[in-house]
Order: sequence, then structure tokens, then C-alpha cells
Amino acid sequence: MRVVVVGAGVVGIASAWYLSKAGHDVDVIEHRDGPALETSFANAAQISPALSAPWAVPGLLRKVLGWWAAGNSPLVIGKLPDREMARWLWQMYKASSPEQYLASKRYMVTLAEYSRDRLAELRSEEPIDYFGRQLGTMVLFRDPRQKTAYEKDLKVLDTLGVLYEPVDKAGLARYEPNINLRGGAIGGVLLPGDETGDCHRFTQELAALCTKRGVRIRYGSAAELVESGGRISAVRTAGEEIATDAAVLATGVGTNRLLSPFGLRAPIYPMKGYSLTIVADSDELGPRSTISDETYKVGLTNLGDRVRVGGTAELAGYDLALSERRFGTLFKAVQNLFPRISAEALSSARRWTGLRPMTPQGPPLVGAVRLRNLFINSGHGTLGWTMACGSGKIVADLVSGKASEVALPRLPQSLLGSSA
Ligand SMILES: Cc1cc2nc3c(=O)[nH]c(=O)nc-3n(C[C@H](O)[C@H](O)[C@H](O)COP(=O)(O)OP(=O)(O)OC[C@H]3O[C@@H](n4cnc5c(N)ncnc54)[C@H](O)[C@@H]3O)c2cc1C
Repeated sequence: MRVVVVGAGVVGIASAWYLSKAGHDVDVIEHRDGPALETSFANAAQISPALSAPWAVPGLLRKVLGWWAAGNSPLVIGKLPDREMARWLWQMYKASSPEQYLASKRYMVTLAEYSRDRLAELRSEEPIDYFGRQLGTMVLFRDPRQKTAYEKDLKVLDTLGVLYEPVDKAGLARYEPNINLRGGAIGGVLLPGDETGDCHRFTQELAALCTKRGVRIRYGSAAELVESGGRISAVRTAGEEIATDAAVLATGVGTNRLLSPFGLRAPIYPMKGYSLTIVADSDELGPRSTISDETYKVGLTNLGDRVRVGGTAELAGYDLALSERRFGTLFKAVQNLFPRISAEALSSARRWTGLRPMTPQGPPLVGAVRLRNLFINSGHGTLGWTMACGSGKIVADLVSGKASEVALPRLPQSLLGSSA
């Protein structure tokens, strides 16, 4: 079959890879001038099945108010809520029941582990270099209450057979030898099955492997869908119409622009995040793997001769402006944990913002929508790098008429239409 994938972020390129491996003739259409130049560009570099969880936690409202009162909230509302934001917040609030949280968390961990295993398979089959490491995540606490609160997550990991190891201060130093133990850290939990790597570099490398297999990738082209008789007959770009048997939308926060002409809507809202890329030898001065700092809600990751620091969740529409205030939290975490990184390296750190395509419930939207041959693979929120290979493989299976190897939740009615 001829299949067009729209979007060359990590999710789109992974979809194209598995579609090509399944024997399809694949085109990718990307608006930007290269792969992974939107949200997949400079994320926190964590491949973290064990941290996969919805933001819609039970007691959400109380938790958010507590963060705001403490003045270090990882969730910020950066503009007056409009209709789109208000609807999304309301849906997120409704999704925060204990039952929904547990169901979403179980599914997200399962999908993320499946994805990590596909990535390992890919590494073993192809020469792909993305500063990848398989050394786990260290969740770091500064307050005993953080430890207690985290026990709930550990219980869910127990039921899913996900390994973890609580560590004290000596354990922290053993796993992360450069860490400053005088900065208030009291211990942590090691999640040994997690991994790290540069998502942009991975996507570039996989795009090159796709091209080698004959996938045609057009950069600098915005796509529109062409419908005929209840199915997508072609994908239109500025210069041409590409006739297709199936289309996959891996368009992150741009998904609704493509769906709205057909009366379909994905419950995706942009959650802005911030990152710093610091040029510093991480093995010598920074994290050995990832530290997930529970106090600042920031991830610090080793990328070889760079340290990536990512965090903050801001609801501010589609605005990508760099707010110096928000970067302050990221700098605080680095200075507290790795004070040997020089002031010069910090002042020349590369600042970046990206829009996480968030669904209110947490899980991404993967599956067939109302138009018979149109598939969605979007809405990966805080975990698109973690889940890209898995959801790419799943969408390729679905396009090929095969069952997904992971049981999928039903897509929302707004994507299935009245005939569902
Ligand atoms: C600060 C921050 C830290 C993060 N940390 C992590 C992390 O540590 N681990 C993790 O797993 N995830 C993390 N994430 C989330 C992760 O980066 C995203 O989930 C992931 O990049 C989404 O990938 P995507 O391919 O769906 O979207 P994108 O990378 O945004 O790709 C979508 C592409 O579609 C293109 N497009 C859209 N519309 C059209 C159109 N009409 N025509 C042509 N092209 C179109 C866009 O140009 C874009 O390139 C983080 C995100 C942020 C912001």
C-alpha cells in the first residue's frame, strides 16, 4: 500500500520506519526544513517507562493549589483560559478519578515498556547513534513527604512488575558520583529499566535509515488531507497531490488543523515546556544518566559532552516565547545538584521551548479515526520520545490490518464521529 505520514517528529519518523519495514511504500510530509525541529528537538532526553503516568492524578486540584502555595509549581497557567484551554482543563479534571488514573497509568507504562523494547531491537539491528545509554532514572527527594507520596506510584509499578530500588544518600552518590549531597537531597528511587538519549539526533538518524529504505521525505511542505467518498484519497502539499491508500497523522499539536475540516477533533492541548542544553562533560561534572528532581519537577540528563535539563508545564496556547523566569527553576536545579558546572557554561546554555501535545487523560491517541483509511498517532504529551517506537510499530500494524500487540484504549468519540 502507499501510505503518507504527515509530520517528521520522532513519532512520524518512527511510524514511517515501521510502515516501511511492514512492506508499504511510504511518503513523509513535513512542514519544517528537517526532522524533529518542533517538540522532538530538545526534550529532557528521558526514555522512561517507569515514570510514565498521566498528569490527571487523583486530588489534582488540591495538588495544584499546594504547588502554587509553595511557589514552585511545575504547572503554570500562562494566559487567561480561552474556550479550548477551559474545555481541556475540564476534561483533565474529569479524568482524575482514581479508577481512570490507574487504568491510564497501567496502559502508559505498558506502551512505554513495549516502546523501549522496540528501541532496543532497533539498536541491535541498525547502526544508530543518538548518545543513548541504558542506566536508568534516579528519582531524587529532598523531603520525606516526597518519598511517602511516591510510594503510591511504586505500588502500581509492583503490580506491573517494573523494577525499582530505593536508595539512601550513599546510594545516590554510588549511582550519581558528581551529585552535590549538601544541596538537600535525602535519597531517591532508582528505576533501572529507564534509558536516555538525544531525541533529535535519533530522529535524524532514523530518517536517514528510512530514506535508505526508499521512504520519500519532503521537508518544507505543509500538508492537507483530500477526502473522497468517506476516505482520504490524497495528501495535498503546495506543489502536488500525492494519491494514497492510507494516511497517518503524526502532527503533534498541529493535529486539529488537519482534522477540523472533517468535523473531527483530537483532545490535544499544547503544554509548553522549557529546556537548557549546557555544554559540559556530563560524566565529569553532571549526571551519569537521568536525575528526575521531585522538588523542581525537572529532569537532568547526560548527553555525553552536554547536559540536558528539561521541565516546566505551562498552559499558554501555542506561544513559544522564552520566559527567563521559567528558566530560573531549571538553573536552580542544576546549581543545586551539580555546582561544579561552571557559571560560564550555564550562562551560555542553549534555551529552548516546545509544545507537548497533551491529552487530558494522558495516553496518546493511536488508531483509526472515522474516515476509513485515516490513522492518528499524536498526543504523546510528556512521553513522545519514550513511546515513539512502540506507537510507530502499533500504527504500522493497524495500517497493515493486523492487531496491535498492546491492547489499545478506545479513541474518544470526537475522533470516531457519529457513526461509531
Ligand atoms: C521541555 C520538554 C521536555 C520533554 N521531555 C521528554 C522526555 O524526557 N521524554 C519523553 O519521552 N518526552 C519528552 N517530551 C515530550 C516529547 O518531546 C514529545 O511528546 C514528542 O516530541 C512529540 O513528538 P511528535 O512527533 O508527536 O511531535 P513533533 O515533534 O512536534 O512533530 C510533529 C511534526 O508535525 C509537523 N506538522 C504538523 N502539522 C503539519 C502539517 N499540516 N503538514 C506538515 N507537517 C506538519 C510539525 O512541523 C512537526 O515537525 C518533552 C517535551 C518538552 C517540551
